[in-house]
Amino acid sequence: MAVKMDPIIQSPMTPQLYRVEKVIRETHDTFSLRVIPKDDSGARAFQPGQFNMLYAFGVGEVPISISGPKPSGRSMIHTIRDVGTVTHALHGLKKDQTVGLRGPFGSAWPIELAKGYDVVIMAGGIGLAPLRPALYALLEQRDQFGELSLLYGTRKPEDLLFTEEFEEWRGKYGVQVKLTVDTADSEWHGNVGVVNTLVQRVTFDPVNTIAMICGPEVMMRFAVLELKHCGVPEDQIFITMERNMKCAVGFCGHCQFGPAFICKDGPVFRYDQVKQFFGIREI
Ligand SMILES: Cc1cc2nc3c(=O)[nH]c(=O)nc-3n(C[C@H](O)[C@H](O)[C@H](O)COP(=O)(O)OP(=O)(O)OC[C@H]3O[C@@H](n4cnc5c(N)ncnc54)[C@H](O)[C@@H]3O)c2cc1C
Repeated sequence: MAVKMDPIIQSPMTPQLYRVEKVIRETHDTFSLRVIPKDDSGARAFQPGQFNMLYAFGVGEVPISISGPKPSGRSMIHTIRDVGTVTHALHGLKKDQTVGLRGPFGSAWPIELAKGYDVVIMAGGIGLAPLRPALYALLEQRDQFGELSLLYGTRKPEDLLFTEEFEEWRGKYGVQVKLTVDTADSEWHGNVGVVNTLVQRVTFDPVNTIAMICGPEVMMRFAVLELKHCGVPEDQIFITMERNMKCAVGFCGHCQFGPAFICKDGPVFRYDQVKQFFGIREI
């Protein structure tokens, strides 16, 4: 008897149709899309740090990290900065419109490995979005980890994402949340300067710390230097890499990074395993 195959399972290149359930305006240029399958398929399992390819029909497809919690229903959340052609088209989507989705793809933040350790999360700009599912996973099992710190910086105060969640993270879970901006306004009474300066403001035991970093490459370079300076071992530091991507399944080579493909070997890498390529322009 012929077995009827699900075409989505047959090809990781075929986008599945998703309906935009909700559009959340986060900042002037950043928004979140909550999307749900148009058919009756179930929730897609994902690990914190993984990404989907989102397809704006007629425009193109881009990799976007999953920024929401573990699926409690069938929907998934992505937080997107409008920087160019495809992200702008995604920005234009309204409730009930259709988007294509392939995924989830890629490696994940080391949540299991971090059990028993202090955890320092460092984010720059939109980099908090791929880290938010890691934070949710840590908070879900809060007693399994030591000190938790979130060090987060943006250019301006109005660029800070997810600010409404910071008080709960601080108050309910005891997360040391420290914020900084490059340029303050008259309302801002917090830190001014780059994210790595916040490392000195939180308590953690460096040799017993797992660090997770996501942001612009220059920010990650200085963050790694600061953590190493404090005594965090290189093999306990995890970073994410971004490159232009097409297939997301390790065929096309667009996202090659030294001997690795960011789509399947990354985007989360252990620092000591990529440090010889990290910081080399255009590699
Ligand atoms: C694994 C992964 C996860 C990502 N997660 C997110 C996310 O959660 N939220 C989010 O907003 N963005 C995320 N990005 C970045 C996002 O994919 C790019 O912003 C998007 O591809 C830009 O496409 P565009 O057509 O809108 O812009 P384009 O018109 O292609 O380019 C606009 C500008 O952005 C630059 N650019 C394009 N692609 C990239 C890239 N991959 N890295 C750096 N610069 C780029 C171009 O050089 C140009 O200056 C992720 C990228 C990767 C690889």
